[in-house]
Amino acid sequence: MLYKRSSQLFAEAEKVIPGGVNSPVRAFKAVGGTPIFVKSAKGAYLYDEDGNRLIDYINSWGPMILGHAYEPVVHAVIEKAKLGTSFGMPTELETQIAALAVAMVPNVDKIRFVNSGTEACMSAVRLARGFTKRDKIIKFAGCYHGHSDSFLIQAGSGAITFGSPNSPGVTAGTAKDTLLAKYNDLENVATLIEANKNEIAAIIVEPVAGNMGCIPPNKGFLEGLRQLCTDNGILLIFDEVMTGFRLARGGVQELFNITADIVCFGKVIGGGLPVGAFAAREEIMNYLAPLGPVYQAGTLSGNPLAMAAGLAMLQALDNDRAIFQRLEEKTAYLAAGIDKVLKANNVTFTINSIGSMISVHFDAAPVVDFQTAANGDNETFKKFFHGLLQEGIYIAPSAYETWFITDALTYEDLDFTIRAIDKVSKTF
Ligand SMILES: *Cc1c(COP(=O)(O)O)cnc(C)c1O
Repeated sequence: MLYKRSSQLFAEAEKVIPGGVNSPVRAFKAVGGTPIFVKSAKGAYLYDEDGNRLIDYINSWGPMILGHAYEPVVHAVIEKAKLGTSFGMPTELETQIAALAVAMVPNVDKIRFVNSGTEACMSAVRLARGFTKRDKIIKFAGCYHGHSDSFLIQAGSGAITFGSPNSPGVTAGTAKDTLLAKYNDLENVATLIEANKNEIAAIIVEPVAGNMGCIPPNKGFLEGLRQLCTDNGILLIFDEVMTGFRLARGGVQELFNITADIVCFGKVIGGGLPVGAFAAREEIMNYLAPLGPVYQAGTLSGNPLAMAAGLAMLQALDNDRAIFQRLEEKTAYLAAGIDKVLKANNVTFTINSIGSMISVHFDAAPVVDFQTAANGDNETFKKFFHGLLQEGIYIAPSAYETWFITDALTYEDLDFTIRAIDKVSKTF
């Protein structure tokens, strides 16, 4: 397949946009070559500026769980746009999506909508600090919670790919309040808590990690975090920006039956429009302005187009109780197929997967945290990535990313993908 026009468009973009992209993960820096410019997308497929059709395993990095241009979402946005695109005043639609989200997610009474996952996590931490009157937070190496200052400490995929896990521009003062722990290592967390008694406001975690490949929590890890938080007056923040409305109707809290104190959302909740949200029990949420002292605001928060898209998406997921099972079956089918052909071709690999998330790592050891994720062979990944691109399959241009299975993918698409992986891995 040729990607000539994309290369030309990228050269034009580079003149006026830093690196030619508006988010670094879109660049092909980790794999070489130039990014593909999309013209349109429908269902499981992307159509690029060169006229190629690609099977999409990124799906806008998560939101498009039902496939691209999902009809009820598109319809809702078009109809709302005719009535005005932003008011900065309350609309009934905001209450409708809030009520549905709160009904779907366990252990939360109220939700506040923002414009991105970054904003959701940033606001959740401010709320936790205000509520507990403590300053420090614990985050895990390789977990990504958006690009706000407190989180750019060993921050997962994008930051790792570009070699700046601890970004310049974050002050030492901010960085010192973020304590770094190892994912899946409870003892490490307990030690940090002990060394910072009564100073930690929150532990923020991707309850299933998705930004260093897909790394499910070890048995007992989330339960242990819950207990440590409860015992020490710390709020447990589940960053479900990737997993929310994806791994189960009620997210990871429902999947593993664990109660978080604050839950962050993004991606799926916006149906492909810019939306984030954070939710908690009433006592915590009432600490937010205008009821409480913790300030948080947004000119475009609760934007009618975004809320219409999000509501149509959540309604579709709420009405289709078999969807998460269906996605899991497709993922398992793909994982088994990849496993078979890579073994047959004597490739060294590990596959991690859960629900509709899957990642292939070119290393034999189990991938359980940032360190083990970083052991993967990037040269093999580059060949894998470009080989699949030639076959018309688009995975993320970084070895640290999760692939997302959508409802639009057919078993023919999955079989095609497995055959392509067989072909490509013969050339390693
Ligand atoms: C994508 C992501 C974010 C950031 O969301 P943006 O909308 O890109 O700001 C935060 N946390 C997790 C777990 C994510 O996957």
